[in-house]
Amino acid sequence: MYWEPEYETMDRDDLRQLQLERLQATVNRAYMNVPFYRRKLDEIGVQPEDIKSLDDIRRLPFTTKDDLRENYPYGMFSVPLRDIVRLHASSGTTGTATVVGYTRRDIKIWANLVARILTAGGVTKDDVVQISFGYGLFTGGFGLHYGAEKIGASVIPISSGNTRRQIQIMQDFRTTVLICTPSYALVIADTLYEMGINVNSLYLKYGLFGAEPWSEAMREEIQEKLKITATDNYGLSEVMGPGVAGECLKQKGLHVNEDHFLVEVVDPETLEPVRPGDVGELVITTLTREAMPVLRFRTRDLTRLITEPCECGRTFARISRILGRTDDMLIVKGVNVFPSQIEKVLFEIEGTEPHYQIVVERKGRLDEITVLVEVSEEIFFDEMKRQHQLIETIKKRLASELGISVDVKLVEKKTLERFEGKAKRVIDKRNL
Ligand SMILES: [Zn+2]
Repeated sequence: MYWEPEYETMDRDDLRQLQLERLQATVNRAYMNVPFYRRKLDEIGVQPEDIKSLDDIRRLPFTTKDDLRENYPYGMFSVPLRDIVRLHASSGTTGTATVVGYTRRDIKIWANLVARILTAGGVTKDDVVQISFGYGLFTGGFGLHYGAEKIGASVIPISSGNTRRQIQIMQDFRTTVLICTPSYALVIADTLYEMGINVNSLYLKYGLFGAEPWSEAMREEIQEKLKITATDNYGLSEVMGPGVAGECLKQKGLHVNEDHFLVEVVDPETLEPVRPGDVGELVITTLTREAMPVLRFRTRDLTRLITEPCECGRTFARISRILGRTDDMLIVKGVNVFPSQIEKVLFEIEGTEPHYQIVVERKGRLDEITVLVEVSEEIFFDEMKRQHQLIETIKKRLASELGISVDVKLVEKKTLERFEGKAKRVIDKRNL
């Protein structure tokens, strides 16, 4: 099932030609209308007409989140404010927020690309779609909303929070599709069990989850607990919002909407392309965005590019699930540690709950990681011997996965904070 088969199954050579034309138009637009890009390109002596092939993208400068912050609020726009019909912003947890603007055409394309992702994830006009992403400046809620409406599904804009009410609505409105972060899907699943509701009495069929990295094991857990088929989708406000990439029902990586985004995977240190199929930082160039063209945006998200054809018939390349963020990566005792590695191990061990937190501290001159793991009540109140065995098992498995030893503490169910949006897994107390 495709939303726009003429693009989604496009011949790769035709696609490359389309990408080149759109890239040239984008660079031209950025150079002519955004002083930031004109200055950057002039500095390195590159003119729009120098872009003659897709490989010439490597001549273009990178754009970082800091660049967007420094041009707060409207400095990156390539159209006057009167042509902007929507503004979104990303959270300013680590400083100034970044603002993104959309023209009427940008909004139309956005809805269309989200409609593609939803269709690939199994959604049709017959579905009742519950959108439990936050509505507001965050692009998740509105982004998915417009795409689901475009398909013709019945959309419930419930936003995030108030989990019991979410479940009530899910029952009463006969929700068939749940859309939220994967961690919130698990919170909903846990609450269902607490409320004594049999999941088989619900109408849920599909779940589309995104906005944070999650593991294959977490997918299995969500699918089993909610009795749905769960797919992963990806996007970020800096280049549009959700709808940049999404999985088809083969669940083997996320198809990138390559006619609208040109992606590269680079080594985060050297910024050179990684070998095909290797893990690196995802870099995205917008190809059709009017209000805010972005050249080579460094996403900080780590993934790998999958270019083998997919069984679903889409010809768009795929990215693997996001494996972590370059800025989430903890360097502990000189070793790179990703929260996703810890999550993977915990999901494989019987008796642990899918809720955990990673605390990093500096004791003396040494960094130490403590992983707090929620365990089922049976284990928590069971004899010490069994608890010790479980701790030792987790420690051993983590040590072999990470290559360093970590401390493990078991905590009672519901001790760790729950998140309605993106989960915060790491507490770094080192003040680096
Ligand atoms: Zn596919």
